[in-house]
Amino acid sequence: MLAKKCFALALFVAVGAIVGRAQPAQSAAKRTLVRAGHMLDVKTGKLLDGQTIVVVGETIQSIGPASTVQVQAGDTVIDLGGMTVLPGLIDVHTHLTMNTDFDPYHELISTDAKEAINGVANARVTLLAGITSVRNVGAGGYTDVDLRDAINAGQVPGPHMLVSGPAMGITGGHCDENLLPVQYHVVGDGVADGIAEVQHKVRQNIKYGSDLIKICATGGVLSKGDDPQASQYTLEEMQAIVADAHRLGRKVAAHAHGAQGILWATEAGVDSIEHGSYINDEAIAEMKKRGTYLVPTLYLEDWMLEKGNLPAFYHQKMIDVSAVAKSNIKHAMQAGVKIAMGTDAAVYPHGLNAHELDVYVNQLGMAPLAALQTATVNAADLMGWSAKTGSLEAGKWADIIAVEKNPLDDVRVLQDVKFVMKAGVVYKNESK
Ligand SMILES: [Zn+2]
Repeated sequence: MLAKKCFALALFVAVGAIVGRAQPAQSAAKRTLVRAGHMLDVKTGKLLDGQTIVVVGETIQSIGPASTVQVQAGDTVIDLGGMTVLPGLIDVHTHLTMNTDFDPYHELISTDAKEAINGVANARVTLLAGITSVRNVGAGGYTDVDLRDAINAGQVPGPHMLVSGPAMGITGGHCDENLLPVQYHVVGDGVADGIAEVQHKVRQNIKYGSDLIKICATGGVLSKGDDPQASQYTLEEMQAIVADAHRLGRKVAAHAHGAQGILWATEAGVDSIEHGSYINDEAIAEMKKRGTYLVPTLYLEDWMLEKGNLPAFYHQKMIDVSAVAKSNIKHAMQAGVKIAMGTDAAVYPHGLNAHELDVYVNQLGMAPLAALQTATVNAADLMGWSAKTGSLEAGKWADIIAVEKNPLDDVRVLQDVKFVMKAGVVYKNESK
């Protein structure tokens, strides 16, 4: 086997040398020209007409008026003359390996293998909806790690991913598995109590491939026997988690509904608060002071109240949280807390991610450009990927989507993305 590899390598080098002599190096780089009828600059809100984006390999090489870019032999030209082109969207709160089903027995019979298969299907659906990057915050085993690696290796289509592996939480908390009685001895993958155990769990998650750490700072809605308003991890446990994660180069995302848990997680130095349903002025002030992102996940409430079929022990919690979350989040938005778009997709079917922006604009009164920025520049910043994605600029990934109208006129047009390119590869083209 080794001998064969050596032979193949020698052949490749020899062919490369011949080609290298015959042609100048630059012409080897194959170009794709994306001709945009209109291109939206998500940083400024400006709409530029007649732009051409030159894509080489995975990245954008240049952007300029169509008249300045001549087609060369070997170029591939994609005509999006009737479309509005913008950067691929980013969802910073997904669960790609999970599906929408709240029958408790469904949850109990899940396996890591099933989750991996779900992930393959859902990654594709998500990408085709125009979501070119996600932060996956909680998966059984390390199925999200393998999904990320399979996407990066080109085995399966899907968005760029940052993954957390198992979400960390206290015994009996939102991130534990509480459906079965004691004789079954079931413990959630991410359960860790006390300083020593949380340090160990952070290090274990990083050992097995986690890009970030997800923790449960408070109770949750879709879990049995816990209270969304009650804090779960202590301030000291979260400080230990953040210290280890940051020292090892990982950000921390904290699931938090209750005000005390939001405040403690923020004081402990987490990078984002997920959900934030009971956020109050004290937490808002602390988040603004530290630059902590809030990741509201609000469309799920609309979907759930209309179509959800929840067991009684989840249902009342959903009613209670939904009654207050939107007004509290609206207050936080107006107070100037930084927002990144997250959806909790899996709680409702994958691919509906852009409905979240409709809630921000048409229910909470956020300006359309600000809403679009939550799913582009802000989300990229939270992920630490500002140099890679979040806007259309030379040197960034060629993550490009197109829609039929300017989303600043109607953000709902993002629910029907017609063209998707990720890292220079076209996954969908229904442009007219
Ligand atoms: Zn979630």
